[in-house]
Amino acid sequence: MIRLFQLAEENAREHPERARRYVELARKIGQRYNVRIPKEWKYRFCKKCNSFWIPGETVIIRLKPDPQPHLEYICKVCGARRRKVYEPRKESEPTADR
Ligand SMILES: [Zn+2]
Repeated sequence: MIRLFQLAEENAREHPERARRYVELARKIGQRYNVRIPKEWKYRFCKKCNSFWIPGETVIIRLKPDPQPHLEYICKVCGARRRKVYEPRKESEPTADR
């Protein structure tokens, strides 16, 4: 499954359609085997259209202060928004994410 995300990343720039298929496949596998998507990949794609996100290219990431500091991800492909609570210097820690 991680391999699929890696493939998506490798293809994201030149073959966005292919990258999207890899993301879709990885998510299907996750659902079928009830495997959670690793944290480092969780915010690398759009849940709505499965596009792989390249910061500044296919996704806009904004830091918003209200109501609590969070990052807002705006998919440039379909316009979907996701937010992620901003945790400075805690990115690599396996702490609760939801
Ligand atoms: Zn999208």
